[in-house]
Amino acid sequence: MNKLALALCAAATLLFAAAAPAQMPADFSKVEVRTIDLGNKTYMLEGAGGNVIIAVGSDGIIMVDGQYAQMHDKLKAAIEKISPLPIKYLINTHFHGDHTGGNGPFHRDGVTIVAQDNIRVRLAAGTTNGITGNKTPPQPADALPTDTYIGGTRGIEVGGRKALLTHVHNAHTDGDTYVYFADANVLATGDVFNNRKRYQSIDYANGGDVHGVIRANRAFLGFINEDTKVVPGHGGLAKKADVANYLAMLNTAHDRIEKLVDEGKTEAEVLAARPLADLDATWADNEKAAQDYTRMVYNSFKRS
Ligand SMILES: [Zn+2]
Repeated sequence: MNKLALALCAAATLLFAAAAPAQMPADFSKVEVRTIDLGNKTYMLEGAGGNVIIAVGSDGIIMVDGQYAQMHDKLKAAIEKISPLPIKYLINTHFHGDHTGGNGPFHRDGVTIVAQDNIRVRLAAGTTNGITGNKTPPQPADALPTDTYIGGTRGIEVGGRKALLTHVHNAHTDGDTYVYFADANVLATGDVFNNRKRYQSIDYANGGDVHGVIRANRAFLGFINEDTKVVPGHGGLAKKADVANYLAMLNTAHDRIEKLVDEGKTEAEVLAARPLADLDATWADNEKAAQDYTRMVYNSFKRS
């Protein structure tokens, strides 16, 4: 390979790395979709990226999140095994590519993409990650949600199945929606909660804020019960107790860092003070994840 080809190769690798969310698998051909029956014609699908929910009505299907574009064919095959009915709506819980990458291919299948309106704006404009500085380019028109809402709660109904969508202001991002299927007692949280028992990123450069993440988890505890099947953005199926445990971690992280912010500490000073050291031992995958989480919570207080 000559020098120019090598340089082009390196540039292409860099570009790809910048566009790819952290957990993107190296080889999609090895990924298998696992379907979990949640009862009342409602299913959780695990593959690569955020968890997916399928709710089957009498004449069509409501879907929540669509993983990566590369997962479209595998997800479609798994859904066809559940029901031959068409997917009518795909709801986005937030704009990140591991949840919205499937928008384009599912939209081309005739599916209507539904989301809080900031998702449309973020996907159309492209985004920059606050921690890494990595840029995600603007997405093509057919990957954008076409049926959007601004705030509060809205319903979507397909063949007797009702999804209740609620927007949480400034939480994991500025466009989060959680989805509740009351007839199946199933809650899709998106990334305001995870069941990996690890910190979940707070995308403060794109409207994310620990205060909103706390509000969302408090809201969940206000209406779910011991029997609710909680489908997290990432990780296995969860229960109310997992949400309570996660909220306790959030509250501790918030309170400790708020104290340092109130004392006028800079980001570097807060990092050096290691205010979450005991939590990090349980909740951080590694040292970088520990530092990043402290930065995300700190920057939640600096967001204007
Ligand atoms: Zn996310």
